[in-house]
Amino acid sequence: MRAEPTRPRWRFAGVLRASAALSLLLSTHGCAPSCGEGTRASDGVCEGDARMWVRVPLPAGTPIVIGQGMHGPLSHQGADAHALDFAGPEGTPVSAARDGVVVARRSDSTTGCGMPGCAGDANYVVIDHGDATFGRYWHLMPGGVDVEVGDVVCEGEPLGRMGQTGYAVGPHLHFDVVDPLGTTLPLAFEGLDPGVDGWLWEGAGGASSSVAPGFCEASTLPSTCPEGLFGFLGVPRLEGAPCGLAARDQDHWVQGTAPGASRAALSRYSDVRGEWIHECAEVTPDGSFRMPLRWPSAEHGRVTRYLIAPATESGPCRPTASSGVSVTLHLR
Ligand SMILES: [Zn+2]
Repeated sequence: MRAEPTRPRWRFAGVLRASAALSLLLSTHGCAPSCGEGTRASDGVCEGDARMWVRVPLPAGTPIVIGQGMHGPLSHQGADAHALDFAGPEGTPVSAARDGVVVARRSDSTTGCGMPGCAGDANYVVIDHGDATFGRYWHLMPGGVDVEVGDVVCEGEPLGRMGQTGYAVGPHLHFDVVDPLGTTLPLAFEGLDPGVDGWLWEGAGGASSSVAPGFCEASTLPSTCPEGLFGFLGVPRLEGAPCGLAARDQDHWVQGTAPGASRAALSRYSDVRGEWIHECAEVTPDGSFRMPLRWPSAEHGRVTRYLIAPATESGPCRPTASSGVSVTLHLR
């Protein structure tokens, strides 16, 4: 069992209602947006008030030094908006923020720099939490990963040590939790002064109180979808797609390639309307596209079918092949 079995993983901050979970990026360019109920403005972006509660990813007693917080101007923007950088000397131990299974790791990189071009050189650990969310721990030092793929880890357990491999200015841990499409989720941290309500920001102080319970029962069910989920009709996906979503009314992003097509269609079947709804995205000259994967609760129930295909060149958006296998996604 978990260390605190009754603790809800998702909670909602403030007094706003919990009805509209994670409505991201509603409208925002330039002026302060007017955000709907259950959402709030954060750096010019409307985002849901739901936050995932996690442990500070540092062993108890480690000073908390936030080098760059959520929405940090250097690199915590867009899909990476809810990442945090925990600074510390090279070799500072890093621990798991939630229970889960290690699904990816790298420890053989010895290089890094303060340029985005070094991003591919990071050592890292990725933990599948079993609910279609993934904890990511970046910039670990050369050889500084102490877990293997398949290991079950409990929150508070050591994972490795801080470094500056990849895109990093100085040693730090870049930590975030992402959905299966790589969008970071807003976080709150347990064990802090109650007055700060789980928030960590640049300049926040204190020390971690994250202690490993010594045992846990992490879900070993994989949250990832099978390879090639959307790999049909000549439209391979470049990023994962969610087999299980934590919330409706939350846009995810799908990237793929459709060489030779000018548009790609993402179609979803509405049980409410009893018909397919088609949305198209332009295919860039290099053959790639990016489009939102929507799940409006007004149009879909707990199970929804999706289809991605090359689309008609002009006029109403329609997939040019309709006989392909569609993909069924479900709410967790
Ligand atoms: Zn970062």
